[in-house]
Order: sequence, then structure tokens, then C-alpha cells
Amino acid sequence: MDNFTFCTPTRYLFGRGVENEVGRLCKNAEWKNVMIVYGGGSAVKSGLLDRVTASLDAEGISHISLGGVKPNPTDDLVYEGIDRCRRSGADALLAVGGGSVIDTAKAIACGVPYDGDFWDFFAGKAVVGPALPLGVVLTIPAAGSEGSGNSVITRLDGLLKLSLRTDTALRPKFACLNPELTFTLPPYQTASGIADMMVHIMERYFSPTEDVEVTDRLAEGLLKAIIAEAPKVMACPDDYQARANIMWSGTLAHNGICGCGRREDWASHFMEHELSAIYGVTHGAGLAVIVPAWLEYVSRIKPAKVAQFGRRVFDVNEHDDTAAATETVCCLRGFFSSIGLPVTMKALGIEAPDFNLLVSKLHENKGPQIGGYITLGKEDTEAIYRLAAE
Ligand code: NAP
Ligand code: FE
Repeated sequence: MDNFTFCTPTRYLFGRGVENEVGRLCKNAEWKNVMIVYGGGSAVKSGLLDRVTASLDAEGISHISLGGVKPNPTDDLVYEGIDRCRRSGADALLAVGGGSVIDTAKAIACGVPYDGDFWDFFAGKAVVGPALPLGVVLTIPAAGSEGSGNSVITRLDGLLKLSLRTDTALRPKFACLNPELTFTLPPYQTASGIADMMVHIMERYFSPTEDVEVTDRLAEGLLKAIIAEAPKVMACPDDYQARANIMWSGTLAHNGICGCGRREDWASHFMEHELSAIYGVTHGAGLAVIVPAWLEYVSRIKPAKVAQFGRRVFDVNEHDDTAAATETVCCLRGFFSSIGLPVTMKALGIEAPDFNLLVSKLHENKGPQIGGYITLGKEDTEAIYRLAAE
């Protein structure tokens, strides 16, 4: 096991009605003027936004709002948010939505006190210093951004989708998780969120670091729970207990606990970011296409951990590691298909993928080599994109 530090300062409120606590939470944090960030309308339609503003009003917290965040959020709204925060003197942000909304709020939070262009943080030209504090009301379990220090934004100029990782600077001060708020999710978004959280665990599980049994077992347990609960939420969207289990899994998948003591991988996320930047696909669905192809490719080089994953998570029975690894890839593809996700680029709607563009942008953005479990160069990533094609 490698040395590590692990700090999750976010306060979680979990259960029915917790969004009504927002006003009290802001008051306790001594925030006086918050900017509410939300998406394309689901939070308005459900009445959630009204409940949140009523809770702020009841505690005398002033608020302005910035709506219209789109999935795979872009830099234009971040610039607008920074400008409006500065002009209104907002002292905190409140994200009401999913990963796209939370990531937009995080980018605004670090951009407001910074003299330069917020994109410097994403381009690796500057390190995040002071940032406005942030609270979250989560509406979709998927990205895990409610418990992570990360943000992913697409720059429209050049269609660059880049992630920013911080330790604690951008972790929300609080996150309200009410499983009932997820009953209205369209099935494709529910399934995509499930794929995303599973891959957040796998990106940490597939590591070159040996002897991380505790962290491995945490990861396997979470994955087994997600696999058991997923069919229930797909069949019955208002099954509170299944929604609750999926919601908490999404947070635990990405708050860092599954990465303690080991190097991580992240090649599949980097490869998917190019798919969603260029073709505009839903992130989790893009991962359901990329990850089985990645697993198939790396299992030919290093099958042992893939075999362990299959035996412990999917109850694969094969004794031989290579056979077990092959079976594991089938199980993963089969699981994603069973919850209605595409497992090829073709099924994702990308009929004629531009492999040259995908590979060149990937390595331009992420360097000549990516990955931790296996280090991948251009030839490897092209082979994986081709495996994912059809
Ligand atoms: P999302 O993009 O925030 O939302 C997806 C869709 O779901 C939107 O159309 C949204 O509609 C809808 N939606 C959300 N909640 C709903 C509800 N309760 N009822 C009905 N519809 C609802 O989804 P996400 O998967 O959470 O976020 C994806 C983004 O996060 C990607 O850009 C991905 O790269 C990024 N990501 C970030 C991290 C991180 O650590 N920061 C990690 C992984 C991925 P409305 O807009 O109308 O609300
Ligand atoms: Fe993700």
C-alpha cells in the first residue's frame, strides 16, 4: 500500500426533505448572498428550485440565479457566472442539479477571486488558490462531483474537455442528497449515472499498486451493491430504498475512499472525454462503450487483476486467469446492455468515428502516455477506440 492523505470535509445530509435545510446550512456557514446554479429546467419543473429559494428566504439569505447549464458544460456560462458573481457580490454558490451544474459552479467558484482566466486552472497553467465556498443539492447520482474536488469543463474554442483536480479547494461544504429527487430521472440518465459511478470505482481499482486488499474489498463491495440495486431502479424508478442505495454509492465511488493507498488509472475517462467533447454523447454512456474495450485490451497484457475483479464482482468461476478475464469483459458488457446502455460507438450514434482526431486530441491534451494499470501510448489508445467501434 502506498502512503496517502484522505480528507473529505463535505457535510452530507441524506434523506427525504433534506433540500429544505439549505437555508439553515447557508446561515450556519455565514453566507449572505448566494448564486444558485441550475440546469436546463428539470429543477424548475419539479418545484425543487422553489423549495430551495423558499428555504433561503426563510433564513434571510439573498440570492441570484444562473440557469441553463447544459450536459457536458461549457466555458461560456462559467464566464457569465464569474461576471455576475463579481457584480452582485455573491459570497457563495449553490449548485442545484447534477455533475454538469456542480462542475460549472466549481469553475465559477475558483474563477471569481482569480485575476487571470479561470481556464488557466484547467490548462494546468495555474493552481487553484482561494475559491468561493459551494453547497450542493444533488438531483442525479452519477458524477460524484458532490463529494469530489474535481470539475470537468469543455472549452468551446477547440472543443477541449478538460478536468481539474483539487484536493480540498473545490469540495462542497455541504451536499443535500434526497433520493426522492431522482425519481424523475429519464431511464437513460439513470443508467448512464450508474455506469459513471461504476467506472469511478474501476479507475481506482485497476492500479499498478499491489497489496491494497482493504481498498480493493471496499471497491468490490460497492460494485456488487450497485449491480444488485441497478435493475431495481431501472424497473421501478420510485423504489426509494434502491434509489437511496444508488445515490450513496455514487458519492462513495468518487469521494476518494476507493483510491486510498494506490495509484489510479483514469485512461478510460480521458478517452471518453474526447468522445463527449467531439460527439456530444452522455458521459456515462460513453464510458459504457469505452471501458469494456479498455478492459478487453488490458486483460490481454495483464489478466490477473481483471480475473480477480470478475471472480469477486461478477462471480466468474473460471480457474485460469486469461479465461476468467475474457469472461469478465463479457459480464461487464452484458451488465451495461441489461440496463439499456450502448456498448459500441455505433450504438451510441457514432457511425464513422474519426480515430485520428480522437487519438491526436487525446494525446495532445493528456500527453504521450496515459493510464496507471497499463501505460498506453497512441497505438494502444487507437486499438481501444477501434475495439469500441462496433
Ligand atoms: P448532468 O449532465 O448534470 O445531467 C444530465 C441530464 O439529467 C440533464 O439533462 C439534466 O436535466 C437531467 N437531470 C438531472 N437531474 C434530473 C432529475 N432529477 N430529473 C430529471 N432530469 C434530471 O449529469 P451528470 O452525469 O451528473 O454529469 C455529467 C458531467 O459530469 C459530465 O460533463 C462529466 O464529464 C462530468 N463528471 C464530473 C466529475 C467530477 O468529479 N467533477 C466526475 C465524472 C464526470 P436538467 O439540465 O434539466 O436538470
Ligand atoms: Fe465520470
